[in-house]
Amino acid sequence: MKTVVTGAAGFIGSHLVDALLAQGEEVIGIDNLAVGRVENLSLAQQSPLFRFVEGDICDAELLKKTFEGATSVFHLGALADIVPSIERPEAYFRANVDGTFSVMEAAKHAEIQRVVYSASSSCYGLATQFPTPETAAIQPQYPYALTKRLGEEIVLHWGQVYGISSIALRFFNVYGPRARTSGTYGAVFGVFLAQKRAGKPFTVVGDGTQTRDFTYVSDIVNALIVARNSHVFGESINIGSGGSYSINELVKRLGGDIVYIPKRPGEPDCTFADVTKAKQLLDWEAKVSFEEGIDRILQTIDMYADAPVWTPDQIEKATKSWFTYLGQEAVKTTR
Ligand code: UDP
Repeated sequence: MKTVVTGAAGFIGSHLVDALLAQGEEVIGIDNLAVGRVENLSLAQQSPLFRFVEGDICDAELLKKTFEGATSVFHLGALADIVPSIERPEAYFRANVDGTFSVMEAAKHAEIQRVVYSASSSCYGLATQFPTPETAAIQPQYPYALTKRLGEEIVLHWGQVYGISSIALRFFNVYGPRARTSGTYGAVFGVFLAQKRAGKPFTVVGDGTQTRDFTYVSDIVNALIVARNSHVFGESINIGSGGSYSINELVKRLGGDIVYIPKRPGEPDCTFADVTKAKQLLDWEAKVSFEEGIDRILQTIDMYADAPVWTPDQIEKATKSWFTYLGQEAVKTTR
């Protein structure tokens, strides 16, 4: 069985590659290393079953060649993070929309049997129903969310029109070892772990009472494989931990000092997946508790030794566009 993983050097992609190799699959990983890091693949590189292709998912010819003879494709390659998506929307459309289009075209050409797409819970925007089911309103708040949503539509549409058996999983706040980016101000775990490692205070947004459905990466990987192995197609399915935890609970568990920074416009007060559909259709549910997940990630804290350590001043500068654009009256009143 030959399997392709796009975004293989990324946080989730690299964990997926490791899991597929561990179960004896031949894996081809593609990544252009825009966000991913080769270090994430150091375990995979030791396996004779693994081949790494450094390249762009927008490169149609490269994809066609890479997909040849494969049976399934996990499409995880994408640009992440909110602020750069506001500042450089074109790059996000190119990677997340055009890139997904070319993945589906190559899948069609290579007659791939299964495509699994990593969709984002950010499609729900400022949800009003908790836990949030898949039927909730789709209301992306920034270009990253929009482009991931458009990718989801492309994947399912190619399934509908060209008969490629595809499925989309909407991930909620994934965390775990390797959750860090090289430079951009991004997801909270990368920020907090680098701060803890450096002995600096955690930059808590607002009053820290906002909650997130933090989902541990091994549960995500398991959901991806279960979904690929299932016969379910044409569906978008929430993948979350089954709980929602406040930032205050998170910092208490991580342990350290706190400094408060302003709440950002367009940020939800809560994310919380309704996982009924995942249970019913995939017989999947998360296994790693919040406490266990944090203990595991803390064991890898040395990975953050050379990660950027964000201070309130730097964050204020890095999130300027967030306040400028998402704080506009027009955004608020159309909700
Ligand atoms: N957060 C925080 N301090 C930071 C970065 C994030 O308190 O320096 C909070 C943020 O307000 C949110 C949560 O952590 O409630 C998760 O943020 P992240 O950007 O990881 O995910 P998202 O907000 O997109 O769900």
